[in-house]
Amino acid sequence: MRILIWLILAYVGFKIVKGYLAGRVEPAPTREETETHQDPVCGVFVAADDAVIGRVGDKRIHFCSIDCLEKYRESLTESNQSKSQEAT
Ligand SMILES: [Zn+2]
Repeated sequence: MRILIWLILAYVGFKIVKGYLAGRVEPAPTREETETHQDPVCGVFVAADDAVIGRVGDKRIHFCSIDCLEKYRESLTESNQSKSQEAT
């Protein structure tokens, strides 16, 4: 009978160790879920959650900061002005 008890103990111990090892497996990093976009002004990649989003027509452009958004808008208005100047 003693051997049977040892077998049961070994089995229970094995199950505990197995469960412990399974629990230690770390979940896959969730980094890939966050979208990143490139700032067209300074070229920095920003996460969609942290980005400053500017709308140009139908496009949504992601910027790292409001400064970059304003620079981008300035460059757009400048090019529009030069075009209108050429036309006149
Ligand atoms: Zn930027």
